[in-house]
Amino acid sequence: MIELILLDRDGVLNADSADYIKSPEEWHPLTGAGPAVAAMHQDQRRVAICTNQSGIGRGMFDEPTLAAIHAKLATYLSKYQTQVEQIYWCPHHPDAGCLCRKPAPGLLQQAMADFKVEPSQTAFVGDSLRDLQAAVAAQCKPVLVLTGNGLATVEKLGEPEHAEIARQVQIVADIGEAASWLLNA
Ligand SMILES: [Mg+2]
Ligand SMILES: [Zn+2]
Repeated sequence: MIELILLDRDGVLNADSADYIKSPEEWHPLTGAGPAVAAMHQDQRRVAICTNQSGIGRGMFDEPTLAAIHAKLATYLSKYQTQVEQIYWCPHHPDAGCLCRKPAPGLLQQAMADFKVEPSQTAFVGDSLRDLQAAVAAQCKPVLVLTGNGLATVEKLGEPEHAEIARQVQIVADIGEAASWLLNA
């Protein structure tokens, strides 16, 4: 059974933007996100977010602004009497060579260590190829939503070099369907 559900943020819980989410005003939840997180918690699963936020490393916004964005996320989830338990983010520029920016598995491994959950009991829900790569690198179950970058990611999965990810991935419409699938997996 999947005990720890890790979620990418942009394109999974909220609408993504090519211009980055740089302020609370730019953060807009996707339909069904709150009920999906609530359903996961009601079924006794642990829920956390693992998100790349290179806009910080690029100098587009700062850590207090990210905290304000996550306060808006928390306010939204509280309407459904739920929360995510932890948010892990990589603030680094892609050129920084850090170990936490997905497709590296660092954020996922940190989460599993903190929650004391094995990879075999962990799933990672994302919309981009790098999410799925991080999940496979961390030996978690990769789940792809078709919101955000999801449709473009499906096309990439047809390429021969991504055959192993394509073999492992569970594809679902959105976070609501991800919750339904995970709670029955
Ligand atoms: Mg995303
Ligand atoms: Zn990083």
